[in-house]
Amino acid sequence: ESCLYIVATPIGNLNDLSPRARDVLAQVDVIAAEDTRHTSRLLNHFGIRGNLVACHDHNERSRSEQIVQRLQGGESVALVSDAGTPLISDPGYHLVNAVREAGIKVVPVPGACAMVSALSVSGLPSDRFFFEGFLPAKGAGRRKRLAELSDFPHTWIVYESPHRIMDMLVDMDGELGGDRKIVLARELTKTFETVLSGTVSELQEILTSDENQRRGEFVVLIHGAEKQEGFGDDIPDEALKILEVLVEELP
Ligand code: SAM
Repeated sequence: ESCLYIVATPIGNLNDLSPRARDVLAQVDVIAAEDTRHTSRLLNHFGIRGNLVACHDHNERSRSEQIVQRLQGGESVALVSDAGTPLISDPGYHLVNAVREAGIKVVPVPGACAMVSALSVSGLPSDRFFFEGFLPAKGAGRRKRLAELSDFPHTWIVYESPHRIMDMLVDMDGELGGDRKIVLARELTKTFETVLSGTVSELQEILTSDENQRRGEFVVLIHGAEKQEGFGDDIPDEALKILEVLVEELP
């Protein structure tokens, strides 16, 4: 049975390509890649000769129709992005949607994902979290979005590129306050992997004084807003219990 495999690739350390991912990439008829040159380097490293077609933000819709036709013709297809899990701030949504609409199976081949890796080592609450992806690139749009997220009560996560990280910290200082706890996860699985925790102000200082700390790819994790004081916060537990009992007795 032909199907579309969604294959995660490494975010740095090539050994993170799973044995199953290697097998699938070696066996499929077609590999749809965000950047064929990038993916052919990965395939070369593992001695895999793949039949690559480009599938990126600019051609994904038209490419999806062709891929559905190939799947209907009995071929198997794998989708990969440049790094990590496809569809996570990467192309693939339109393709997966079209393939499922056509009644064809879509199979995950899980592996690296920068935001999950970052969350798992951040030390921030991870029972609930929100993934924002990339914030707007321009200052005004970014500040507006940060203001919208500032009261969110759980951990939230953004992706950021090295040339905007300082601007983003300045905007976080403005919209969330310098005391908000954040974590910067940089160059995960690579040689200069660094995970820094502290307040927005503290991390601004570290990055300002050490330009090496500004290099590479970042995941930024933000501690959720502390609970606002509301009704009942200052009533002793005993009194609350008595109130509950009394309320039940009310007609
Ligand atoms: N699909 C990928 C995933 O599963 O994580 C994300 C692709 S997105 C276009 C690229 C962004 O992911 C970077 O700007 C950075 O925020 C984050 N990222 C990717 N690799 C990373 C790494 N090794 N360390 C830290 N962040 C990384």
